[in-house]
Amino acid sequence: MSERLYNFSAGPAVLPEPVLAEAQRDLMALPGVGASILEISHRSKTFDDIIRQAEFNLRTLLAIPDDYAVLFLQGGARLVFSMIPMNLGTGGKGTLDYIITGSWGKYAAQEAAKFGEVHTVWDGNATNYDRLPRQSDLKLDPQAAYVYYVSNETIQGVQFASEPASGDVPLVCDASSDFLSRPVDVRKYGLLYACAQKNAGPAGVTVVILRKDLLARSHDSLPGYLNFQIHADQRSLWNTPPTFAVYVLMLVTKWLLTDVGGIDKMLERNRQKAKLLYEAIDASGGFYAGHAQRDGRSLMNVTFRLPSDELTEKFVQGAKERGLTDLKGHRSVGGIRASIYNAMPVAGVEKLREFMDEFAATNT
Ligand code: PMP
Repeated sequence: MSERLYNFSAGPAVLPEPVLAEAQRDLMALPGVGASILEISHRSKTFDDIIRQAEFNLRTLLAIPDDYAVLFLQGGARLVFSMIPMNLGTGGKGTLDYIITGSWGKYAAQEAAKFGEVHTVWDGNATNYDRLPRQSDLKLDPQAAYVYYVSNETIQGVQFASEPASGDVPLVCDASSDFLSRPVDVRKYGLLYACAQKNAGPAGVTVVILRKDLLARSHDSLPGYLNFQIHADQRSLWNTPPTFAVYVLMLVTKWLLTDVGGIDKMLERNRQKAKLLYEAIDASGGFYAGHAQRDGRSLMNVTFRLPSDELTEKFVQGAKERGLTDLKGHRSVGGIRASIYNAMPVAGVEKLREFMDEFAATNT
């Protein structure tokens, strides 16, 4: 087997090795089936068991109540940006409240503006999205159709420690980059969704968890694929779902349940990993400058800058020589972004920490 490096990509991102091994082992033929997951009908009993198991694992991990539907959709998180206003925008007096704490919230609001009246409740643009609002900063409309926010902004590395309060207005959350990384109280949400390719599986499937009473808002006139009600009624089998991606998501959630030991254990490990890197930033005497303010620091995407572009380049190169890849930050933030999702081993983060300390000491 080719050597695996420590890959800090923001997504598609590292997957757990036992998952890759199992997928590889069973790629020629699923045990007892005699055909690959790539070759079987989405209407077969085998696939039905797989998609049911994936849903069951998610329900177990996140304690998803029965009055919430779990959907497996295609089109990525970006399609959901549009599906949310199309389906849920008919509630209340129809205005759409958006809390914008980074690029992904901004893009979602731009899509929503094509379908409804967006009310920007808060926007962190003035400080390049380095912070979170306080609850008292949020001027929420009690008549809004929903309140939208992004729990973890992948590019800027800012993460809400807990959800904003939205009163009786359904709370909608893009949890793409911190899904399954910590427990969430699903009851607080009208809709919670995540593309899989960071913490839950490969690209190609997006999980939408939504309170079933909100399905009544989905109008029959919507294009079928864009209608949440149809996907809920058909258990995500209205058309051919991304069968391979759902299968891998089932394996990842099984890994979380059995190898990791559940979401609380995962959070412990994620805290431990993030601490290693934030400590290196804070101990560097200003050599590394964290992008996010301390109380908004992400456990998933650690963003920081070095004193110059030359040093950033040298850091990226030096890290690569040590087998630490994909560390370059997004151009809108610059510097470095280390994405340390669930499947990034502690050993990989320890190796990066060592390199950070050494690099700061030799280049100050
Ligand atoms: N939301 C967040 C928070 C993301 O990080 C991303 C992808 N990086 C998206 C949405 C878009 O996801 P997709 O490419 O699956 O549409």
